[in-house]
Amino acid sequence: MKFNTKTIHGGQKHDPAYGAVMPPIYQTSTYAQSTPGGHKGFEYSRTHNPTRQALENAFASIENGEYGLAFGSGLAAIDAVMKLLKPGDEVISTNDLYGGTYRLFTSIFKNFGIKFNFIGMQNASNIEHYITENTKIIWVETPTNPMMNIIDIKATAEIAKKHNILLAVDNTFATPYLQQPLDLGADLVMHSATKYIGGHSDLVMGALIVKDKELADKLFFIQNASGAVCGPQDSFLALRGIKTLHVRMQRHCENGRAVAEYLASHPKIEKVYWPGFESHPNHEIAKAQMKDFGGMISFVTKGNDYNEAIKIVENLKVFTLAESLGGVESLCGHPASMTHASIPKEEREKTGVVDSLIRLSVGIEDEEDLINDLKQAIG
Ligand SMILES: *Cc1c(COP(=O)(O)O)cnc(C)c1O
Repeated sequence: MKFNTKTIHGGQKHDPAYGAVMPPIYQTSTYAQSTPGGHKGFEYSRTHNPTRQALENAFASIENGEYGLAFGSGLAAIDAVMKLLKPGDEVISTNDLYGGTYRLFTSIFKNFGIKFNFIGMQNASNIEHYITENTKIIWVETPTNPMMNIIDIKATAEIAKKHNILLAVDNTFATPYLQQPLDLGADLVMHSATKYIGGHSDLVMGALIVKDKELADKLFFIQNASGAVCGPQDSFLALRGIKTLHVRMQRHCENGRAVAEYLASHPKIEKVYWPGFESHPNHEIAKAQMKDFGGMISFVTKGNDYNEAIKIVENLKVFTLAESLGGVESLCGHPASMTHASIPKEEREKTGVVDSLIRLSVGIEDEEDLINDLKQAIG
């Protein structure tokens, strides 16, 4: 099956009870047994639920994996991965990382004796300097948030394999429509399904996908033992979202390109961060590992004025000022006062998060309306 067909049919069976085409929402915590242990494969919904299982099969299919696991949030999925570790183990991670992931690593797992190295990975060979005999996981995010840096997954996978380290890729920004990390040599893919996978800003959910049975068994054990699962209603919504992932992503990419090119030509804009530009420092890697360049764009204005940036995000009308990304509706954010406000100015500026940086999650509305909205807001 090819990708577009997989989004609709991958891992899916018609419901055995009545042939329902969509998996019913099995809103139940438990399942009747005829005799102790005599059940139809489901005992208790923390462990298994038919709606969640249909979703987990869909996750595995669209990422070209063997096993999918669904969690109550993206961070719950990352939390499960970190529970593979023991005190003394080390993790090498992208330095330009989703803030919540950074907080989970440094405020929770560091206290359990796990050591984290946050490093620049745009040159993959840099990773080798930080590998020790205790390194167990390399954690990669690409493209990164909000600077849209690109990390070479294949080159990173070769380093991870050589040292017998697990390579995990947060594929939230790209989605499997644009890039499939397992095919590039990664061992594990993670998603905040809250974003493009769900696609309609109506749920919070996380996903893990792997190929290896032994790794899957460990993660299923943690999923059940720690219990951060998602419910059947949200599983149903995510399944519905996945069915249009390819169509939505195609439009996100088309609109993303149009908005990026418009901003790049605007006299008041200093710089546009979007991996589709040939001038992007990792454009060649992006071209090699991604099918297209997505709808996430960041930009800074000439003069880099904090108040001017605030005015622009306040003036936008079609773009909604809000946290999150990946929904059908266009969103905008101002990292310096929102997602990155807790990071000291000097620190955030080192990674490029300057006062006038604005991040856009370009939705699937009409391109003309989005550009006119930017035109009136920027002036
Ligand atoms: C949102 C996000 C997360 C966290 O996921 P939640 O569903 O909010 O818990 C992790 N990584 C990336 C890249 C994200 O955008």
